Amino acid sequence: MTQADFSTAGSASTHPGPGTVSGESPKAHTAILGGGPCGLYAALTLAKAGKKVVLIEKEEVLGGLARGHKRGENFYDLGVHMLHAFDQEVFETMRDIMGDERIEVDLNAKIKWAGSFYRYPLQFTDMVKGMNPFILFKCCAGLLAYQFYFKLKPRVPKDAEEALIQLYGRPLYEFFFREFTHRYWGFPPTEMSATFIMTKMPRLSAVDVIRNALAKIGIKGNKVEAVESALSKETLHYSRNGAEAMPRLVAGEIERLGCHVITSAEVSGISLDPDGKRVTGITYRNTKTGDESSVACENVISTIPIRSFAEAFGDALPDEVRQSAKQLRNKGVAVYGLLVNKEKAIDALYIYYRNHVFHRVGEPKNAGLTVNPPDHTVLIVETTCEVGDAKWNGEQSVIDQIVADLEAEKICTRDDIVETHLLRTPHGYPVFSLGFEPHLESVQKFIDGLENAQTTGRQGGFCYPNMHKAMRMGATAAEKVLGVTKESKEE
Ligand SMILES: Cc1cc2nc3c(=O)[nH]c(=O)nc-3n(C[C@H](O)[C@H](O)[C@H](O)COP(=O)(O)OP(=O)(O)OC[C@H]3O[C@@H](n4cnc5c(N)ncnc54)[C@H](O)[C@@H]3O)c2cc1C
Repeated sequence: MTQADFSTAGSASTHPGPGTVSGESPKAHTAILGGGPCGLYAALTLAKAGKKVVLIEKEEVLGGLARGHKRGENFYDLGVHMLHAFDQEVFETMRDIMGDERIEVDLNAKIKWAGSFYRYPLQFTDMVKGMNPFILFKCCAGLLAYQFYFKLKPRVPKDAEEALIQLYGRPLYEFFFREFTHRYWGFPPTEMSATFIMTKMPRLSAVDVIRNALAKIGIKGNKVEAVESALSKETLHYSRNGAEAMPRLVAGEIERLGCHVITSAEVSGISLDPDGKRVTGITYRNTKTGDESSVACENVISTIPIRSFAEAFGDALPDEVRQSAKQLRNKGVAVYGLLVNKEKAIDALYIYYRNHVFHRVGEPKNAGLTVNPPDHTVLIVETTCEVGDAKWNGEQSVIDQIVADLEAEKICTRDDIVETHLLRTPHGYPVFSLGFEPHLESVQKFIDGLENAQTTGRQGGFCYPNMHKAMRMGATAAEKVLGVTKESKEE
């Protein structure tokens, strides 16, 4: 086994890779597990505070879900990723690090639903325009009736179906959400926890619906701009290389500050002190050679899937916690990146679909991505999958279905497609299956019982933050290690 060597850190903007030769003082102040937005931001926060950090990332390319791959002459995002500026501090940090590579993009996203396009996030006025009046009336009446009913008789929903009906009414649930949810997740809403709906789905308030309907006929309240229209005017942040730029530039800054970023290194073991109360070291495996290395650390911030983190404790993990960890599953993402011989394919940054093999098609060129040759475009076709299924394997039947669906939508034809690249990850979406909550609690409790370990981010927290929120989670974890509280920051 070899150990991470801090004497090489900071000397290059390339990542030294796993199994770096042992040095004099390999002990890290903090080991960060996972190099997605959360881990990178945690590492940056600690590196800026002068701490020796080692970041360990399984993939060859940094960025986690928000990474971009170069294939041939072009960059392909693992699902189109643009940064929101909702967290001022995070945004300013990224703006400074990205410098000239950052470009600004006006949000222009759509949903294709029942033959019409709607702006995303969904706006009531748009729904009115394209919808059959009878269905619209039924959906509105259902929304009002169900919200009124559950206000009078509040009830904790037993599953996602009941939660969706409480939020949107039965007609809208049956018209849109039932099939969409089933198709997206691969199992019906009756098998999904209500927690997902209650924490993730926007509330479509009956009062707002009436207010919007009145505004449409010219009767406007004196309320400041509604959240939905404010969102629809949002500016997003991207780069000419797509999602690839941000993690590369952040990692470069971490290394410039004297810290160590190790890629193609999968966390495989965690050592504890004799009392079993503190993490003392991390073992990681070179994903190319299989060699194992280790780094000693005073603290650990894990952003890798909470199940993988728990299982890395080996025999130190109590049996019941191991059983709980097994219940925390993820839905995979298989993205098909297409180089298309067309100047432009869709009139949006991305469009959501509810009845195709894909759920979203993005055209990052519309956000400023450089495409080679310039008269071609890149399409990012997103699907959810299970590891080992036909979508994960990129089977010809799936590609044929994708092409048929793209042709049906008049996005492009089979002959237009010049190259197809499959990008994928097993950890796209934490699955909130029925009854997952106590299992998450059990694993979290075990980790909380350690004095110097935290688990956070999308994978580590088993939750759904966007990039800026995942970065904020990384900053919070780093500040906890530094002993910085919110109050002391404000002083
Ligand atoms: C299709 C899609 C599109 C999205 N678009 C946007 C968007 O436009 N804007 C936005 O703000 N957010 C977007 N998001 C959300 C965004 O991807 C997440 O908020 C963000 O990636 C979470 O960062 P993270 O670091 O917490 O987790 P991740 O990005 O998942 O990073 C976890 C890291 O841990 C690594 N890892 C896993 N196991 C191990 C191991 N054993 N050892 C070492 N490393 C390991 C993984 O390889 C990964 O790099 C999107 C998400 C999806 C799925």
